[in-house]
Amino acid sequence: MQDAARPQAFACPKCDAQMRIQRHPENDAYRCEGCHGLWLPLMASEQLEERAEQIDTARYAGTSAPEPRTLACPQCAHVPLIRMVDAGYPDIHFESCKTCYGRYYDAGEFREVSEDPSFLERLFGPG
Ligand SMILES: [Zn+2]
Ligand SMILES: [Zn+2]
Repeated sequence: MQDAARPQAFACPKCDAQMRIQRHPENDAYRCEGCHGLWLPLMASEQLEERAEQIDTARYAGTSAPEPRTLACPQCAHVPLIRMVDAGYPDIHFESCKTCYGRYYDAGEFREVSEDPSFLERLFGPG
């Protein structure tokens, strides 16, 4: 699933700071130098779950305010990200792209959900 065409960095959809690539054996991740948000390409959220503490070193800051505007996918440019919320964790949400299946997590959220393995199953069903 490695894509050689992936950029080294792109602008954070939330704060416009640089999101830099982090290469891991399973997949790549991007972390924002400004707000420490994470961009996880297709499958990376599952493949990098074991590394969540290493990748997402920020502490979960608690409920984040709803986005004041629709974020655009950093990989697909003009595709809007869809907000996903889990009923069991109404305060945690992430943004997902329906075109490339990448996901944007606020700082600390990926680590928070990775500590509860049932979180993603409840969202998408087992497997
Ligand atoms: Zn940012
Ligand atoms: Zn996309």
